[in-house]
Amino acid sequence: MDTPTFERARLRVARELVGLSQKQLATRVGLTPAAISQFESGAARPSPETVAALSAVLTVPAGFFAQPVTQTHEGFFRSLRRTAVADRRRARAIAHVAHDLALAAAAADRFPAYDVPRIPSSGLEASLDEIENIAAHVRARWGVPPGPITDVVKLLEAHGVVVIRLPLNSTDVDAFSLPFADHPVVVLGSDKNDRARSRFDGTHELAHLVMHGEQIWGIKEVESQAHRFAAAFLLPADEIRDQLPTTVDWPRLFELKRYWQVSLAALLMRARTLNRMSESTYLTAVKAASARGWRRLEPVPLGPPEHPNNLLNFLASTASQPARAYLPTNIVNDIAAATVSA
Ligand SMILES: [Zn+2]
Repeated sequence: MDTPTFERARLRVARELVGLSQKQLATRVGLTPAAISQFESGAARPSPETVAALSAVLTVPAGFFAQPVTQTHEGFFRSLRRTAVADRRRARAIAHVAHDLALAAAAADRFPAYDVPRIPSSGLEASLDEIENIAAHVRARWGVPPGPITDVVKLLEAHGVVVIRLPLNSTDVDAFSLPFADHPVVVLGSDKNDRARSRFDGTHELAHLVMHGEQIWGIKEVESQAHRFAAAFLLPADEIRDQLPTTVDWPRLFELKRYWQVSLAALLMRARTLNRMSESTYLTAVKAASARGWRRLEPVPLGPPEHPNNLLNFLASTASQPARAYLPTNIVNDIAAATVSA
């Protein structure tokens, strides 16, 4: 009898879903850590009995290991550095399961085709004007009408990006993404409950998909480019420039926050980068906001964050049944639950 397919990359994903080290897993299945390591590196293949034991301990269906893997991604965690490593790996593993779901949905013709323009920035030295132009180009290419973006998550989903929300359990966690070539995954925190911030985070991740692709993220310049893209995408210069105050005009800024659905912090930063506000006016505003505790909790709440629907709709359909049979039920439920509760 043929040995069933064993996709080594899935062992690490399954292990990280339950937060076990190679050594801990080895103990639980009665093997040596070296054996686990060899299964993950591809140096050795587990017997069908061992696959059954691994699947029982890791609480994934045995069929999980047989599913093809085209890519895996390490993921870059912008603000997750202070998150426990195990939590970070678990979030990344869940994002891989979300990707599996998206592929199953796409195969059932229930996921939009991937259509994010790839426009690499010219490098770390790219001018801010160049970044503004790239953001404008993506808006134009997608036919986004002038004015505020109605729903950033919906826009990403409509262009084939997988978006999920997870409780990322950290005070400084924002978002991360895995740049799969077919359907990239963007993970947004579900524990912040801040619509403005979440919209900015989603757009920041879009920036990486457009400009940085597989490149290493996390370099200061790359992060500033993604921030600049997000600001330009959400607040196009030619539309927002004349609307922004030149003084610390809070009523005006509150009104703009409501209209554009972005944070006061983003508006102030935009006023500075577009030279509407002088450096000293900007600093006065930031200081005043900070003194009022607005850096933690801004006034003018915008309501609940946007929530993803694509995977949820797929999971609600019978077309998801084959995928449910090989994916870990609890993780699939977590993905669906965080999606609705966000
Ligand atoms: Zn980033």
